[in-house]
Amino acid sequence: MLTSIVGINWGDEGKGRMVDLLSEEQDIVIRYQGGNNAGHTVINERGKFILNLLPSGILRPEVVCVMGNGMAIDLAHLDKETNKLREAGIEISPKNLKISDRAILTMPYHIELDCLEEERLAGEKYGSTRRGIAPVYGDKYLKKAVRAGDLLDLDYLEHRLRGIVAYKSLMIEGMYHAEPVSFDEMFAWLKKYADIFRDYIIDTGVYLSDAVKAGKRIMFEAQLGALRDIDFGIYPYTSSSSTIAAYGPIGAGIPGVKLDRVVGVMKAYSTCVGEGPFTCEWFGEEAEELRRAGGEYGAATGRPRRVGPFDVVASKYGCRVQGADDIALTKIDILSYMKKIPLCVAYDVNGKKTVDFPMGQALNIAKPVIEYMDGWNCDVSACRKKEELPAALLAYVKRIEELTECRVKYISVGAEREAYIQMY
Ligand code: GDP
Repeated sequence: MLTSIVGINWGDEGKGRMVDLLSEEQDIVIRYQGGNNAGHTVINERGKFILNLLPSGILRPEVVCVMGNGMAIDLAHLDKETNKLREAGIEISPKNLKISDRAILTMPYHIELDCLEEERLAGEKYGSTRRGIAPVYGDKYLKKAVRAGDLLDLDYLEHRLRGIVAYKSLMIEGMYHAEPVSFDEMFAWLKKYADIFRDYIIDTGVYLSDAVKAGKRIMFEAQLGALRDIDFGIYPYTSSSSTIAAYGPIGAGIPGVKLDRVVGVMKAYSTCVGEGPFTCEWFGEEAEELRRAGGEYGAATGRPRRVGPFDVVASKYGCRVQGADDIALTKIDILSYMKKIPLCVAYDVNGKKTVDFPMGQALNIAKPVIEYMDGWNCDVSACRKKEELPAALLAYVKRIEELTECRVKYISVGAEREAYIQMY
């Protein structure tokens, strides 16, 4: 059984807690794209954990976690993340963590380039998290990236790194008039992390195809959401990797397999970190109240998130590009304070109503068309069965199902592992 858990919106939908919940039924959990530019927050009986690089399955000792070839891995960050978890009593060893030899490595100069470019863009910036993600994926396609497997042969690594460093220095000096990259520093940096992670690096494609043959239960865990996908998102305010479920098998190293089930995680209202068009955005006191209620501050960066009502146009599009079979609707408990629940049911683009998610300038100028539904005005955080949910909440969910053309299987009413309702 191959299951994928993906974000339907702009990211931060609460994927981490759904992966944590559903990973109970899994043998293997795989991260297949992105780097440490976002974070999953998981709260369970062992504490509160923020995971940037590691698959959320790492919190379950019986699950094997794989960091796939589609990822961009900053080994310094991974070292810190693994040590922090070990301090909290989580065991991490080559037995339960495997790093693809084909995954690209985020280097210190990628982070520097990310910052230099965002500063150059100034008022026009893309809202990068400055973790080096765009520069390292850029290098992947320029064929100038170091890959994890290169650390297994230091002579080969040295040879490759020399050419890459010479190229990067030309770029940093020529374009940004900054200091050139030091080969010695970069080689020493890589050797340090080679010593720490050597035993974790394997051909995860072989490992996973054997696991598929053996009938193992495998889960693909995405970072960010459909609207941050490099192809289908709000380009150029996207991430640099593919956040789409269909990319999962490719980014994991088993491109020939087909997914059995895609669970799309969608928040009961909208949030977005960083720049770019966000049609249903609220401002002022109304926004502050929702932000406070939902604790909407970035897991990786602490930045206050932009907030607004549920966006049907964006979510319907997200469900379609993700090919979602089931939806997990998260954080519905946060809406309990609202007398009337707003829904953005369409966009108005130059006086024309549309429910098809636009791109480019049409998206920039789109205005939200809002519909209101009755609120439920009571605490739902203790509900665990469909029958316990208020009628107004069920009506809100039903309306979302109709408009997004996707069925809601899970509703979460609190951050804790068991705070959810299975609808069918
Ligand atoms: P992710 O990157 O998609 O995992 O999203 P985040 O890390 O931003 O997680 C969402 C945040 O909301 C985390 O702090 C979760 O613990 C919390 N959370 C998730 N589901 C619920 C829910 O149903 N209700 C409440 N109140 N909090 C939730």
